[in-house]
Amino acid sequence: MNNTIIAVDGTGSYRLYLTITTDAVKEASRIHGCTPLASAALGRTLTAAGMMGLMLKGDSDRLTIQFKGDGPAQEILATAYPDGSVKAYIADPSVDLPLKSSGKLDVGGAIGNGTLTVIKDMGMKEPYVGRIDLVSGEIAEDLTQYFTVSEQQPSSIALGVRMDLEGRPAYAGGMIIQVLPGASDECLTALEDMLFYMDSLTLLIKDAEEAEGEDKTRILMDLIFGKLPEEFRPVILDEREIKWHCDCSRERMEAALVSLGKRDLRQLIDEDGQAELTCQFCRRSYRFDRDELEAIWQKAQN
Ligand code: ZN
Repeated sequence: MNNTIIAVDGTGSYRLYLTITTDAVKEASRIHGCTPLASAALGRTLTAAGMMGLMLKGDSDRLTIQFKGDGPAQEILATAYPDGSVKAYIADPSVDLPLKSSGKLDVGGAIGNGTLTVIKDMGMKEPYVGRIDLVSGEIAEDLTQYFTVSEQQPSSIALGVRMDLEGRPAYAGGMIIQVLPGASDECLTALEDMLFYMDSLTLLIKDAEEAEGEDKTRILMDLIFGKLPEEFRPVILDEREIKWHCDCSRERMEAALVSLGKRDLRQLIDEDGQAELTCQFCRRSYRFDRDELEAIWQKAQN
């Protein structure tokens, strides 16, 4: 099911990425056993990464967003691909803090002071790496700063995860608006006004999910942009699906063991006689017994 729209307005002033990622965020939260605060932080990061993955050009390109801070969440990382697949993890999924005075989850407090790093692996020798100091740790503000400073791309970003009464993610999604070269001032002013008066994104997602009609993201787009003059409304270029998917495999785990080198592997075989590796993204475990480890040892270099 397509849950993501890529669009450009009639005057070519801005490009829009709009997505409802409720399913992917629920999956991530369940896999990692997240508190509401961890779900919000992980869900926002995953949603942004998913949209930024769709911006990649080559089929084998890969994008990683990493938030690293001195707050209790420590690190949040999401990796996304051009086909809409995204996987993510948070170092401390049990992170919990008092709500902010606004009643919102304190994602900025969970991350603390630190850095945002964006890594784009585009099949070159060296990946592209952009790094900025965090603005607030609230994810969307930090990514807006990243786009402005590192990519010279003025953007407006909204990300949201709304919890149900049990503290599990109920609605999630995001929006990236990129200003295009030669944008009309009139259009940008109309857009700014629209964003200023816009309801919270997750409330609008709730409205879209509860509305009649199959295509919830189209409904959401109309709810957000419907009040703009006709020529400034987004025109859909493409519809895609952002989905949770982990591409780990036994072969990859084997390769990780091989990369330990003969000496460390020997020690592992002699001392433990087996190995169990857990994927940090999907928490799947891979067990290797002594015979399998011996075979891997044969393949390893000194
Ligand atoms: Zn995995």
